Amino acid sequence: MDKSLMKILVCPICKGKLDLNIIEYQKDAIISGELVCKKCKELFPIKNGVPHLLPKNLQFE
Ligand SMILES: [Zn+2]
Repeated sequence: MDKSLMKILVCPICKGKLDLNIIEYQKDAIISGELVCKKCKELFPIKNGVPHLLPKNLQFE
């Protein structure tokens, strides 16, 4: 994913801001890493350049 996405990504659960932990980085793109919510501490993986912002519990409207 592009790093500029961090400006628009928010936690899908609480809409809080996300912290980025980069594991693998190539040419301005994050290949793998983690997004951690500053508010509810939920963790979302980034795999193959794609952020997976799905809550574990999908019972949200
Ligand atoms: Zn959150």
